[in-house]
Amino acid sequence: MFRVGIGHDTHRTVEGRPLILGGIDIPAEFGLDGHSDADVLLHAVTDAILGAAGLGDIGEWFPDTSAEFAGADSGELLRRVISEVSGQGWSVVNLDSIIFAERPKLSAHKQAMTDNLAKLLGVDSAMVNVKAKTGERVGPIGRGESIDAQVVVLLSKEE
Ligand SMILES: [Zn+2]
Repeated sequence: MFRVGIGHDTHRTVEGRPLILGGIDIPAEFGLDGHSDADVLLHAVTDAILGAAGLGDIGEWFPDTSAEFAGADSGELLRRVISEVSGQGWSVVNLDSIIFAERPKLSAHKQAMTDNLAKLLGVDSAMVNVKAKTGERVGPIGRGESIDAQVVVLLSKEE
């Protein structure tokens, strides 16, 4: 059987923090604010997988009130979720994603993010797609106040 899941996340941009997207350190004059490492793409990926497997959402799994997850590596949180869904017999078929960021230019980093996501998900890089869009200079994304990510994922399980 197949199950589709959707994920969305938003983080505010802030000076003095690294910008980590899809587990990759992106050179930028700002980073993203958040309780964990604020990897907006990995959070959306994690939520999409939880949704597809019917397992709730990232906030239930990793509460931002918990000291355990302060500064957490979002790749590690995703690995825990993958381990749970794999244990239930699910595997990832493919994943598509969009990062919404006015700055910096992400085209040079898309392949690294794709390869890292594929590694985390245990699939071939051909099954992962990372797209980047600006906010056309309008709204919080366009003004550079936040970065968003949207993800859809398809899971399959032998019946
Ligand atoms: Zn987040």
